[in-house]
Amino acid sequence: MTNTQSRGLPAGSLPVQEIFGPVPQGEGPFAGRRACFVRFGRCNLHCPPCDSKKTWDASRYDLRETCPPRTAEDIVQTAAAHGAGSGLTIITGGEPLMWQRSAVWGHVLRDLPGEVHVETNGTITPDPVTTRRISHFSVSPKIGRMGAADPQRKRLVPSALAAFADLARQGQAVFKFVAGDIAEVDEAAHVVRDFQLPQDRVWIMPLGDADTWPVAGADIADHVMHHGFNLSGRLHLTLGVR
Ligand code: SF4
Repeated sequence: MTNTQSRGLPAGSLPVQEIFGPVPQGEGPFAGRRACFVRFGRCNLHCPPCDSKKTWDASRYDLRETCPPRTAEDIVQTAAAHGAGSGLTIITGGEPLMWQRSAVWGHVLRDLPGEVHVETNGTITPDPVTTRRISHFSVSPKIGRMGAADPQRKRLVPSALAAFADLARQGQAVFKFVAGDIAEVDEAAHVVRDFQLPQDRVWIMPLGDADTWPVAGADIADHVMHHGFNLSGRLHLTLGVR
C-alpha cells in the first residue's frame, strides 16, 4: 500500500485545496514577487487563527470536497496555467511536507517549472529530494495564539528545527513567526534562542486581518527591531488580493 492509499486517497493522487495565480507573494522576504500558489490539503496542527481551515478542519468541512484528490500531471498543468514557471511557485497548505513520502510529491517537484518555494510549519524534516529541489523554505513555527491548540512537543520539533536552521544558515530558509503583540514577539525570541535559530533569518509577521495587522505591526515594530529580527508585511491583505 502506498503512502497516499494508506491515507484514504486514490493511488497516484494528493489532496489539493486550491491552485491560483499569478498573484504577488504577500509575506516575508519575497513579498511582491509574482507567484503561483499550490495549496495541499491536511495539516498536523490545529492553529485557532488558521486562515486555511478548509485544508484540515473536518469538523467544519467535508475535506473530500474542499481538498479533492488530484494527480501530479493535473497539479503541474494547472499550476503552469496559473503562472508556474513565469515566477515563483509556492507550495503551501495545510502542511505540505506531510506528503513528501508520496511518489506524487516527487513527480510534482520534478515537473513543476522554474523556482519552487515551500511554506511549512517546521515540524517535519525535509528529505533530500525536497531540499535539492526547493530553493527556499518559509518556516513558520507556531507560538502564542497560533500555537494555543497544540502541545509544544507537536509544534516545536527539535530535529526538524535544527534541519531548517542549517538550511537558513545556508540561505535556503527563513523563519516566520506570527505575533500579535509584544509578548508573542518575546515568545518567538525564546524559541529562536532555545533552538539556536539564526537571528538574521527571522521574520515576525503581525497577526490580524486587513484592518488589524497594520495596527499590530505598528505596536510590535520597535520590539521586533530590538530583538534583531525582520518585520514582514501582509501585502495581499492590504491590497485585497489573494
Ligand atoms: S500549521 Fe498552518 S495550515 Fe496548519 S493549522 Fe496552523 S496555520 Fe493552519
